[in-house]
Amino acid sequence: MVTLGIPQNTIAILQKYQFRFQKKYGQNFLIDTSVLERIIKAAQIGKEDCVLEIGPGIGTMTQYLAESAGKVIAVEIDKALIPILGETLAPYGNVTVIQGDILKVDIGELAEKYNGGKPLKVTANLPYYITTPIIMGLFERKVPVSGITVMVQKEVAERMQAKPGTKDYGALSLAVQYYARPQVVANVPPNCFMPRPTVGSAVIHLERHEEPPVSVQDEKFLFDIIRAAFNQRRKMMTNALAGAGDLHLAKEHIVWALRELGIPETIRGEKLSLPQFAMLSDRLRDFQR
Ligand code: SAM
Repeated sequence: MVTLGIPQNTIAILQKYQFRFQKKYGQNFLIDTSVLERIIKAAQIGKEDCVLEIGPGIGTMTQYLAESAGKVIAVEIDKALIPILGETLAPYGNVTVIQGDILKVDIGELAEKYNGGKPLKVTANLPYYITTPIIMGLFERKVPVSGITVMVQKEVAERMQAKPGTKDYGALSLAVQYYARPQVVANVPPNCFMPRPTVGSAVIHLERHEEPPVSVQDEKFLFDIIRAAFNQRRKMMTNALAGAGDLHLAKEHIVWALRELGIPETIRGEKLSLPQFAMLSDRLRDFQR
């Protein structure tokens, strides 16, 4: 059996199959066993869990997951990796590899088929070029997922857990914190990957809320307001929202709603908390022209 996570074994298997890294798929394979162990620990995986791994690569993290979980489903887009996974995962009877694009796979169907419809735990060393669509897709498509433990670009992890008034705070912070409780569990330098990425990385654990921390009449409108507020980050909220054509809001109504909430009219979006955005969106909803 080939134990991956050790650089020599990773190199040997890549050479055996004459594998060529595809930049377009964000391929940076993990070659550090201590990082792998930390991911598995943070994901809190036990034999009762069914895990969805996004982008298994040559199966390094998959081997660790297969040891800890009851069942592992691994979705990999690159056809050239499928025969390699056939070899590296051969000893594990609890792993199913699916060749496909995670953005197109019906995750609800996977949960139904492999876990009786119960929530899956998601783990991945994500392809960084599609981090946001993957994470937001998992939340917005309302797929049955309980916890997400993923390697992302360090800056993205910082944005996910940023608080109001900080430089990293933005639409991604609000969206992630509406659905989950984020916690960075490790910072990972470029030398833990092959090939080395040009950016720093971090492992973040997102524990999904059973109920969002705020309730709103119209979730889509809340996120439309948030997006508009940060589209023009340097502008005051009143101007940013009034200038967003798709919101159909008049400036005087925005000023009125902010006053009602005791928020200064000159405020910028970067200072508003999630509960404040929620109250503002409920007040503005009826004013759409
Ligand atoms: N998990 C492996 C590891 O840690 O060594 C590989 C991680 S690498 C950063 C990202 C993996 O995601 C690659 O194997 C890549 O081919 C795969 N990938 C990229 N885009 C994908 C997509 N849309 N759907 C599924 N897998 C994808």
